[in-house]
Amino acid sequence: MSEAAKEPAKHSYYFGPGLTDLKQVVTSALKNIEESLFSLADTIDSPSFMSNVDSVIINVLWWIFSYTFWIGAATMTILAGVTFCFFMLIPHIAVFLVVDIIGIAYTGIIFVIELVMMKLRRVSLVCDTCHTRFAYPVYICPSCGAKHQELSPNVFGALHHRCTCGAKLPSSLLVLKNPRRSLDAICPNCWKSGREVTVQGAGSHTVCIPVVGGESAGKSAFITAYVKDLIDHQASAHGLTTHFYDDSKKSMYSAMTMDYQNGTVKKTATVTRTDISSTISFSFYLEGEKLKPRRLMQIYDIAGETFVGNSENEQQRQYEHCDGIVLVIDPMSLPKAQALFGNQMDAGDQSAVSSASLEDVMNALNNDLRENTKIDKSGKLSMPLAVVLNKVDEAEGLDDRFGNKGVMKIRAANTERFTDDFDLMDLLCRQFLVDMDMPEIVDLIEQNFKSSRFFAVSAIGHTAGNGNAFKPLNVNAVMSWILQNCDPNLAKDLSMQTFSKASLPLEKPVAGLYEELLAGQGGSKQSSQ
Ligand SMILES: [Zn+2]
Ligand SMILES: [Zn+2]
Repeated sequence: MSEAAKEPAKHSYYFGPGLTDLKQVVTSALKNIEESLFSLADTIDSPSFMSNVDSVIINVLWWIFSYTFWIGAATMTILAGVTFCFFMLIPHIAVFLVVDIIGIAYTGIIFVIELVMMKLRRVSLVCDTCHTRFAYPVYICPSCGAKHQELSPNVFGALHHRCTCGAKLPSSLLVLKNPRRSLDAICPNCWKSGREVTVQGAGSHTVCIPVVGGESAGKSAFITAYVKDLIDHQASAHGLTTHFYDDSKKSMYSAMTMDYQNGTVKKTATVTRTDISSTISFSFYLEGEKLKPRRLMQIYDIAGETFVGNSENEQQRQYEHCDGIVLVIDPMSLPKAQALFGNQMDAGDQSAVSSASLEDVMNALNNDLRENTKIDKSGKLSMPLAVVLNKVDEAEGLDDRFGNKGVMKIRAANTERFTDDFDLMDLLCRQFLVDMDMPEIVDLIEQNFKSSRFFAVSAIGHTAGNGNAFKPLNVNAVMSWILQNCDPNLAKDLSMQTFSKASLPLEKPVAGLYEELLAGQGGSKQSSQ
């Protein structure tokens, strides 16, 4: 750690200073008693022999009587003194204990409220550099710059801590005036490694969604399509406001706007510097009257080459805690799809086909996930995985097989068998991969993820660079499904598309199923909704 780990705050009165005060009071009271004893002893005259009486017997008796009297008087005086002191001390101790217990109980109550609110509101931040998720950043004292790692209700105070410089810092989210989230903060994990990485948005609930895939699969186009629609239309239409995480994200948004309008997209740059994160995050806040706490949306993009080659600069900790993953696949990157539908593509699409093999993409994702996530007892990953078969508009044959056109056709031929378009789309996408000789990919996803759904998508909606603006297809549906799984309140606030709770896939995709569905055979079979 770059600095001493000691918290630069003064202990709360109830957790230390109060006890010291009490100790002082008791010590001084005992000292008083001791002094009283000595002075009492001095004030009582010692008895002596009666010098003017000759009788030895009378003298001895007198002496015994005097001593007994002296001892009795001294004991009474001492007892009276000690009792007086104790009676002065006991109320003091009692009052102190009551006040201290109330103080500790109060801090405990604030601690519990804070804990519950932090959990319920799912307050957390994700560092842009190391991708660690944490609830409490290291807060910086605005007066002296001291780093506070424990600015929460604890032994340093309930609602406020007193910095060693004397500044009063808010230490709970219950403090609304000059709230804690307005303090500057840095990532605790980076700080441990000696780096000071500023984090913003303390007190927010961060929604972290990595968008992964091979080179030219359309990840950036997907992010552009989603972000543009959400920021420009959806948020304001539902009474939410958005603002950017920082100026660099604002510039990213300006570039996205240009791309969106021109219908083009730049390839995600491979990060060549080794001292910065290989993953690029696009981050923005969503705020609204009912949306508490505000959301910090972090959408991760990583160059396909870096992702597939597992050559990231940093450990990909975002998978450890992400709210969902979007896996983007270019269906025309599959050799069999190329053989079947390649002749339906125009030159622009053909030149932009992803060169990444789907097996390599899956291996890379698997490696990242196994390295960075805890697998549950069933051996499955808990975050929802949306599998996007992108560029569905590339070839007529794709739309026919698993796009909206295919869904309509198969539903019309199997009216009783299927009742939900998106559930059927999921089945058709899986079936397509099986038919394209990729059954192991479909199985791998089913075996590894608790919850997955396949979508036919076109992020741009047409061939890139043909002069027309983006016309996204099903991009919002993908994100709606992820948010419905990870942040139902936000999904509700945005009145997003809802999805059935059917167990997917509706049927086991096997060779020949597509032809069977096309012919409308087995129409009596019910979907599992
Ligand atoms: Zn300070
Ligand atoms: Zn960090």
